[in-house]
Amino acid sequence: MTRVGIGYDSHRFAAGGPLVLGGLRIEADVHLDGHSDGDAVCHALTDAVLGAAGLGDIGALFPDTAAENAGRDSIEMLGLALERVAAEGWLVAQVDVAVISEQVKVAPHREAMRSRLAAALGVDTRDVSVKGKTNEGMGWIGRGEGIAVIAIATLKGRLTPA
Ligand code: MG
Repeated sequence: MTRVGIGYDSHRFAAGGPLVLGGLRIEADVHLDGHSDGDAVCHALTDAVLGAAGLGDIGALFPDTAAENAGRDSIEMLGLALERVAAEGWLVAQVDVAVISEQVKVAPHREAMRSRLAAALGVDTRDVSVKGKTNEGMGWIGRGEGIAVIAIATLKGRLTPA
């Protein structure tokens, strides 16, 4: 059996680095504002994986009203979501991520991000795709106010009856 899930996330830029994205700490003069570490790539991926398994969303699993989630490592949250998904008998087959930002260039960090995410997802690096797009200067992304991420995850299983 195969399931597909989609995830979307956006975060506003705030002054001062480092930028946490795709599990990397990237040297930059901005960071992503958020209750956790603001890692929009991990958040979109977490929602894609949870969505594919029919297990709700990141907001329900890790409420931004909870003190324990303040500044939280989003790779850790992705790992906990995967444990839920695995408990239902699903394994990640592959993921595809599109980062939409005017000023953050993905290309120099693509391979490191793929490796980091592959380790977190328990898949081969070849099963993780990350790509960057601009918004052609349009709207809030074009003005450099923030970043948007779209992710799709394919799950295989279910290995055990739920
Ligand atoms: Mg988020």
